[in-house]
Amino acid sequence: MKKIYFDHAATTPVDKEVLKAMDPYFSEKYGNPSSIHTFGQETKTAIEDAREKVAEFLNCNPEEIIFTSGGTESDNLAIRGVALAIRHQTPDIEKLHIITSAIEHHAVLHTIEDLEKNFSAKGGQVGFEATYLPVDQYGMVSPEDVEKAIKENTILVSIMYANNEVGTIQPISEINNIIREAKSQRLIANSETPLVFHTDAVQATGYLDCDVKKLGVDLLSISAHKIYGPKGVGALCIKKGTPLLPIQTGGGHERKRRAGTENVSGIVGLGKAIELVTKNRVQESIKIKKLRDKLIKEVLEIPDVILTGHPDLSAQAGKRLPNSASFCIKFIEGESMLINLDMKGIACSTGSACTSGSLEPSHVLTAMGISPQDAQGSLRVTLGKDNTEKEVDYFLKVLPKIVEKLREMSPIKEN
Ligand code: PLP
Repeated sequence: MKKIYFDHAATTPVDKEVLKAMDPYFSEKYGNPSSIHTFGQETKTAIEDAREKVAEFLNCNPEEIIFTSGGTESDNLAIRGVALAIRHQTPDIEKLHIITSAIEHHAVLHTIEDLEKNFSAKGGQVGFEATYLPVDQYGMVSPEDVEKAIKENTILVSIMYANNEVGTIQPISEINNIIREAKSQRLIANSETPLVFHTDAVQATGYLDCDVKKLGVDLLSISAHKIYGPKGVGALCIKKGTPLLPIQTGGGHERKRRAGTENVSGIVGLGKAIELVTKNRVQESIKIKKLRDKLIKEVLEIPDVILTGHPDLSAQAGKRLPNSASFCIKFIEGESMLINLDMKGIACSTGSACTSGSLEPSHVLTAMGISPQDAQGSLRVTLGKDNTEKEVDYFLKVLPKIVEKLREMSPIKEN
């Protein structure tokens, strides 16, 4: 049976070129990058080469890149690191305020919730409060809502660049304009409270321009395994001057911001993966988008199917990642659909990989106003660079039959 992989938002296969670049760092080039001798210097140089590639892609200085164990750690370091640094700088402000959106990845949401619940400031009071901004029916955050939410004690805004479940791209530059204006107002008012802007670009890295200067962000998280690199490695770009305390202590690695012997082969893999993104991003996006558009058009011909995420598929509008198709197939269970597709050799997902297995409907879909019942029938199809039109055609042949069969068996026939 053919095996078709349509779950690239969960993870991607490691590119052959990436694997080749990593290979020597498992065997002959094994020095500890902190060692003074030639073995150490060789791996240190490899790390610095990778740092330059990542910095070039993000248009920042190499010194502004910190390697981490992936997107989750980058998000944690960004949020906790900034929150704790500013908490220490401003002991007189009772509560510090963080703004995020209701559709963030749990790496962001749970970190902020944890700060709200578990971090006590001077006198034992809770040290943080947060606003979880709503999104519209397409999963978009409104810059006006960010503007309204900013208060005197707001220190951090964390809004993802593109969503992992529905592919909606957020208006990061417009949100930056709002934040810049708020910062100018603080200057005029002689306020010294910092206001930092973070974006989780884990899903965006492979497809969107991630120039931090154009985006106007102070912090940006990436992860290698979403861009044909290895799992367990990522990076955080930290603009010079951003207040940030390390969250992992130990040795003085990564400019004292992330202790622990570096994952050399992983970092080399991330560097190579980023180099390939820099080279191939635009052409690959065009090719994948063509397949994705065909897939969306034909899946929507099945009765009682809704597209989730942004319906504007035009490349110019840039409102949806080019590889992302996501739907709610009414009156059936997403999990049964996945199992049936898997039996036909097709790997997709329902909601995000991190939340599948839980019976709770996706927090992203419910935030977009989709009923819990419809959200149960969610299907996420995320294409990758090696998918072909033949694979899409096979999927389009198989899916309607599965939907028909499951609907016949389903006790739910109407809303
Ligand atoms: N942020 C987003 C938007 C993601 O999609 C993911 C992974 O699914 C992460 C963060 C976490 O990244 P990692 O798996 O590298 O920890």
